[in-house]
Amino acid sequence: MTQLDVAIVGGGIAGLAHAWSAAERGHRVTLYERSARASGASVRNFGMIWPIGQAAGPWYEVALASRERWLRLHEEAAVWVRACGSIHLAHRADERIVLEQFAERSGQLGVPSQLLSPAEVLARSPAANPDSLLAGLFSPTELCVNPVQAVRSLPAWLRVRHGVRTMFSTSVVILEVEQTAPARIALGSSHGQWERFDRVVVCGGADFQTLLPDLFASAGLRLCKLQMLKTVPQSGGWQLGPHLASGLTLRHYRNFDVCAGLDALRQRVAGETPELDRFGIHVMASQNDAGEVILGDSHEYDEQVEPFDKAEIDELILRELRRIIRLPRWTVAARWHGTYCKHPEQAVFEAEPLPGVYVCTGLGGAGMTLSLGLAERAWRQWASM
Ligand SMILES: Cc1cc2nc3c(=O)[nH]c(=O)nc-3n(C[C@H](O)[C@H](O)[C@H](O)COP(=O)(O)OP(=O)(O)OC[C@H]3O[C@@H](n4cnc5c(N)ncnc54)[C@H](O)[C@@H]3O)c2cc1C
Repeated sequence: MTQLDVAIVGGGIAGLAHAWSAAERGHRVTLYERSARASGASVRNFGMIWPIGQAAGPWYEVALASRERWLRLHEEAAVWVRACGSIHLAHRADERIVLEQFAERSGQLGVPSQLLSPAEVLARSPAANPDSLLAGLFSPTELCVNPVQAVRSLPAWLRVRHGVRTMFSTSVVILEVEQTAPARIALGSSHGQWERFDRVVVCGGADFQTLLPDLFASAGLRLCKLQMLKTVPQSGGWQLGPHLASGLTLRHYRNFDVCAGLDALRQRVAGETPELDRFGIHVMASQNDAGEVILGDSHEYDEQVEPFDKAEIDELILRELRRIIRLPRWTVAARWHGTYCKHPEQAVFEAEPLPGVYVCTGLGGAGMTLSLGLAERAWRQWASM
């Protein structure tokens, strides 16, 4: 493939992933980010690299490919990464049934996991609440990153190590696509300049409707708002261990759809605690390098997406977390929300709305998990075209 002039729009994890994959192939890359530093979904998440949540098969493989690239970033770019694995906790009989069903099919699915007794759970995590604990499902593949550290340090590394030109505080629009073969795309910047590129990759996250409004309108993407909390640093080097997820989480990720017991679990939650379904609440916890425990989350869609956070949601998240985990310090240090866009059926939204202009967004709750692998896949495919 000849050396191309490539523009990446968006300095979140998807844009960084594309910039890295393009630069590694020798292309001349410019990355545009409209904020002074990335502030979108990519710095607002749990930092969970979460292959276990992906449907077995191609998406699990993309997640594993991403995992390898995160480990490379740890080695090459001093990104903090902890290989922690994860445990889904069962405190109810129907949750244990789903975990058993998943563990039984683990080999067939190609997704390593191990059913744990309560004692084995507690040996791996001091945070699991032993009261009514019935079982756990351990997966070894999950990583923990600190999203703020990773996403805000990578632009400098891409600049120095890979020669990527980074343009922060610079919003861009597509001015014109020259119908030559190959096409040349003119981008205009908020500084009144314009430049031509051979390829533009739009990784604008939930914001791409401002750049390509017609495509956004027809794409069928939904906006989703999530509320999150973070504790103060836990004292005395206390460690959460693996990422922890509750039985409620079994309703959320596609991987557990293969378990026959899931319907009964869903019905029980809907009947007992409809408030959790109303706000799309399932609960998880991760711990960053500062010892802070990140807690979440909820899911409100489309017209429910308001700038105002709901105290009720935070209380429900904390209520459910207290049922499944015990922390030395529950003092909340920060609360925030994040927004992403998501396609109802597809794990990612990829499109070429104009010649040479590619869109990669709609990663939903899996952008940290999938982006690095997805960008590699895209640039490998483009190289063979
Ligand atoms: C609360 C929360 C928790 C989550 N937890 C996890 C998790 O633990 N694990 C996981 O895998 N995923 C998680 N996710 C999902 C993940 O964070 C997202 O899928 C991912 O960050 C999306 O990355 P992105 O680069 O597409 O978007 P963003 O991070 O939103 O980045 C898009 C960037 O594009 C810029 N931009 C847009 N338009 C323009 C323009 N015209 N010119 C210049 N710049 C522009 C924006 O300023 C923005 O910085 C979570 C998401 C949220 C909200």
